Amino acid sequence: MRSNRTIVWFRRDLRIEDNPALAAAARDGSVFPVFIWCPKEEGQFYPGRVSRWWLKQSLVHLDQSLKSLGSRLVLIRTESTLNALLDCINAIQATKVVFNHLYDPVSLVRDHNIKEKLVELGLSVKSYNGDLLYEPWEVYDEKGHAFTTFDPFWQRCLHKQMEPVSLIPPWQLIPAEGNVEKCSIEDLGLENELEKPSNALLGRAWSPGWSNADKALTEFMDKQLLHYSKNKQKVGGDSTSLLSPYLHFGELSVRKVFQMARIKQILWGNEGNSVGEESVALFLRAIGLREYSRYLCFNFPFTHERALLGHLSFFPWNADPSNFKTWRQGRTGYPLVDAGMRELWATGWMHNRIRVIVSSFAVKMLLLPWKWGMKYFWDTLLDADLECDILGWQYISGGLPDGHELERLDDPEILGSRFDPEGEYVRQWLPELARMPTEWIHHPWNAPLSVLRASGVELGQNYPNPIIDIDMARENLTQAIFKMWEIQAASKASGSEARDEVVAESEYLDIPKVVLLKDKAPCATISANDQKVPAFQDPKNELPIRKRTKCFEEKRKNKENSVNHVKDSNVSSSDHEDTCSTADSSRKKQCSTSTYSFSVPQQCSSSSNLKWPWQEQTDMEQSSGKDGMRIRVKTHFSA
Ligand SMILES: Cc1cc2nc3c(=O)[nH]c(=O)nc-3n(C[C@H](O)[C@H](O)[C@H](O)COP(=O)(O)OP(=O)(O)OC[C@H]3O[C@@H](n4cnc5c(N)ncnc54)[C@H](O)[C@@H]3O)c2cc1C
Repeated sequence: MRSNRTIVWFRRDLRIEDNPALAAAARDGSVFPVFIWCPKEEGQFYPGRVSRWWLKQSLVHLDQSLKSLGSRLVLIRTESTLNALLDCINAIQATKVVFNHLYDPVSLVRDHNIKEKLVELGLSVKSYNGDLLYEPWEVYDEKGHAFTTFDPFWQRCLHKQMEPVSLIPPWQLIPAEGNVEKCSIEDLGLENELEKPSNALLGRAWSPGWSNADKALTEFMDKQLLHYSKNKQKVGGDSTSLLSPYLHFGELSVRKVFQMARIKQILWGNEGNSVGEESVALFLRAIGLREYSRYLCFNFPFTHERALLGHLSFFPWNADPSNFKTWRQGRTGYPLVDAGMRELWATGWMHNRIRVIVSSFAVKMLLLPWKWGMKYFWDTLLDADLECDILGWQYISGGLPDGHELERLDDPEILGSRFDPEGEYVRQWLPELARMPTEWIHHPWNAPLSVLRASGVELGQNYPNPIIDIDMARENLTQAIFKMWEIQAASKASGSEARDEVVAESEYLDIPKVVLLKDKAPCATISANDQKVPAFQDPKNELPIRKRTKCFEEKRKNKENSVNHVKDSNVSSSDHEDTCSTADSSRKKQCSTSTYSFSVPQQCSSSSNLKWPWQEQTDMEQSSGKDGMRIRVKTHFSA
């Protein structure tokens, strides 16, 4: 038993505490911890600058921890993760490979393929749940279908037994010896020379690494959790836990977070502290949303490319690169939106409320494709997490049955007065409005000329006029929804081919049902814990319909009836095109997701050559300024 030599393949589980793969390997014999970096395999979801900075710091931290236990973290940069693993296996004559599960679409495919290959070669491969309270294949409704709305999913989770946390890290590690072509942390190439000055500033605000995560968690539990429900409304300051980057890189065990919060809930419940109880319930709900993001990605592995609800594929997005650029630069003329976008660019961070506001603005006011926004957030957020990002963007853009309705459009001016009543947040991020009185701070375009002059604001000069008037935006959105219904109805009537976002063979508003193939494991797995693969069921069984406001629903029916008569649709192909599909082949996608007996698609669309509009058009740089970060935008774009 003790003669086993196990490779511990670290990915986004960069901790030693409550790390099931590491603990199992340490129990079994000698260990060979390895982190493999393969930019080619990351494809279009190659992490952005701030996210890579975090990863780099966290790896250094993990290596130090492993060293203190008697081992070292081997770093490998490669063109193929499988080959790198095989090199490690040969070098130490490994008998086993262990790792913790990931659920994003890219990892799901890669891990499945690697596992299959290693098992074929006769290796023992075992994988564990190191990222979730429950595996996505453990939570189904009474009919065995995957949940498609959050509340019932979370209720089901809360009523399940959870595996206890194994808090104590391995006491010591016996290193497995062997020579592989390893590299230094610098050679991994997570940070280039140009990025270093900007990144240095991140170190002032954040301390990556699992033991720092632990400190942050303890402090949050002791000090802020009690007031979480009250403070959550504030958009500035440390009103929430700020744990998301730690959770993303697995520096914190989510089971530990959950259990610590639950203990507080019980204690406060006994004391009759209803404020505390409410705060914990809300915080646990946030943790539940993170669980749900993985759940959706696992059960519906197309959701990084298409909304869960098929109707969005008929939406006539206004894929206008110049509007997109204005939004990214924080020059829309709506102060709260612009402040959020500047904060994002400068720090890689935004409060959830601000994320909702800026993303809704892009989709509802500018009609920009939600996938553009998702990818931009992925590139710029410090806590960039594909599953949470997908959930967030689909939530605000009408892609989920229980998210915001497509027709819902919130006025940024009103949101500004509600969530930033004194205008402090806007003043912090928009120095050009720093002297604007609170009364006008969220709608400077209404301010009298004398006020503008006194505040040093010249609309159209040092601060833009609104990119679009709210009434016009509302009208545009309504028209777009009508158009969507028209195209949808025409497509239905003509029986034309499903389009990019459409899940082929499904009804327009349905979601393919997902069940677990109980009798069919993804490969010759060794343990009941091993990663499962989702399967689609006949979607025509029951059609979950998205809730929609009554008047819109009536209008939709009228529109649909009138268009249904027109067999010969006059919809042009350009109406159909979503110019920024993340897929390398939409056809392949449709095939892979429309089959009822589904296995992990081989092509998960990650094309490293695929360029996003802003990558071709702008070259942005950050540089440090006196007051923190200064934004310098170098534009090669001619609009
Ligand atoms: C358009 C959009 C994009 C988003 N992209 C990301 C992303 O790339 N990465 C990311 O981690 N979160 C994302 N979120 C979710 C959320 O905004 C952040 O998790 C949260 O703001 C992180 O701050 P916190 O750790 O202080 O959160 P807290 O409020 O303290 O919550 C604790 C933890 O719960 C999880 N959580 C909280 N809210 C959500 C949520 N709405 N969805 C999923 N998980 C949640 C996070 O892991 C978070 O760390 C996005 C939200 C939107 C609307």
